[in-house]
Amino acid sequence: MGKHIAVAIDGPSGAGKSSIARSAAQELGFVYVDTGAIYRTVSLYIFDRGIDPADRAAVTAALPEIHIDLRYGDGGLQRMFLNGEDVTERIRLPEISMFTSAVSGIPEVRAFLMEMQRSLARERSVIMDGRDIGTVVLPEAQVKIFLTASPEDRARRRWEELRERGTEKTYEDILREVEERDYNDTHRAAAPLRPAEDAVCLDTTGCTFRQSRERILAIIRRHMEA
Ligand code: C5P
Repeated sequence: MGKHIAVAIDGPSGAGKSSIARSAAQELGFVYVDTGAIYRTVSLYIFDRGIDPADRAAVTAALPEIHIDLRYGDGGLQRMFLNGEDVTERIRLPEISMFTSAVSGIPEVRAFLMEMQRSLARERSVIMDGRDIGTVVLPEAQVKIFLTASPEDRARRRWEELRERGTEKTYEDILREVEERDYNDTHRAAAPLRPAEDAVCLDTTGCTFRQSRERILAIIRRHMEA
């Protein structure tokens, strides 16, 4: 890792990790890496091929066919390319969220993406967000933050986000999905979601985006000045 700084931000879906991490990275001049987008890209390929995400052997056999690229656009926006095609928007479809939660429980999928994630943090200072960054991917990260908020708060944020894009889903549907994905992500055998022992836990229930961002920046700066 050398002189580079790695900040690991883990937590459940909808806690605001990506928007806060991206904005904090911009402020600090770090690269922001959204590992959920990488898992979503692999899962999109599996989905498009019509493979059952519970079929571990079939998912594993498809992995060598997958080539993933990350490119950075305006505002540090991470664009995802799957075998040369820009899939940045498609990976956000709600059916892909649930599908990804199933695919990412497969140990071979996690192993397939491990080196890619580590190499992204080797060459520069990064803020990397995901589920197992502080515990498994970058256990040596200088700063580890576990970001969470109540399921109701997270479901409300997601509902507002989706409503702007014209979804028909009700708040209750989304709350159920949030809870289901939390359950999957925390109960799987391979790299379950949990705070690293040395992580700072930050609960953003009731906080505005600005407040959460300032609190994260303060934690990182405290470390950089130490
Ligand atoms: O963060 P996001 O909601 O985009 O992630 C989608 C899914 O990818 C998560 O529900 C989780 O199952 C999986 N994931 C993971 N490990 C990571 C990042 C995401 O298993 N580091």
